[in-house]
Amino acid sequence: LLSAEALTKRFGATVALDALDLDIAEGEFFALLGGSGSGKSTLLRIIAGFEAPDAGRLLLDGRDISATPPWARPVNMMFQSYALFPHLTVADNVAYGLRRAGVAAAERARRVGDALAMVGLEGFDRRRPQQLSGGQKQRVALARSLVMRPRLLLLDEPLGALDAGLRERTGFELRALQRETGAAFVMVTHDQEEALALADRVALLDGGRIAQVGPPRAIYERPASRFVARFLGAAN
Ligand code: ATP
Ligand code: MG
Repeated sequence: LLSAEALTKRFGATVALDALDLDIAEGEFFALLGGSGSGKSTLLRIIAGFEAPDAGRLLLDGRDISATPPWARPVNMMFQSYALFPHLTVADNVAYGLRRAGVAAAERARRVGDALAMVGLEGFDRRRPQQLSGGQKQRVALARSLVMRPRLLLLDEPLGALDAGLRERTGFELRALQRETGAAFVMVTHDQEEALALADRVALLDGGRIAQVGPPRAIYERPASRFVARFLGAAN
């Protein structure tokens, strides 16, 4: 589906991404692990098109999309902060991207209803973000991404604000939604066990490079370096 080739991104003296190569397959659930500052969010923002790399390119189905604006990419990104519009209702938050894409009102309403049902928020249409719990806000943000029917959904710590029990349940729900929609999901998480439980493949970032990538079991059983072994060991 997507190939990143030698992506490099610098912020002043900081090298956020260092000639990073990555392939995401159609319909896979991919988890991105790595310490704070390892480049996870930068990578997602570049794939989404919110930021341009200093070097390297992005291919979608083999076609270079490096110069394609974010809205024209079949990619959607769910932010860690959820970034809901406080003055808009749940339905209008979810409909926002469809409205901007010029989707007619009737279809918009139908798709918003479907997306809210997918995340278990039927009947919440008229509420506003401040009338929702953290977990419900997270679901609205997810519905707002799913409603666009992206082929690739990027999730930056989507479960970070949830308590442990809800986090586990929502993780499995995310996995089910990924299967149901057939989209590829790339999820940033700092929780190794979560990555192991949910992902088809896992990549561990270190200093803007991929320290190792592969199926979770391969990484856990055959860490490619002491860094990988120690990273996985540290939080277990
Ligand atoms: P975290 O787990 O803390 O969210 P991360 O892996 O998402 O970390 P990034 O946000 O991608 O890390 O940042 C990678 C590096 O680039 C860090 O050193 C960060 O300080 C730097 N960086 C990121 N964005 C900017 C920016 N807009 N301006 C300057 N430096 C930045
Ligand atoms: Mg980040």
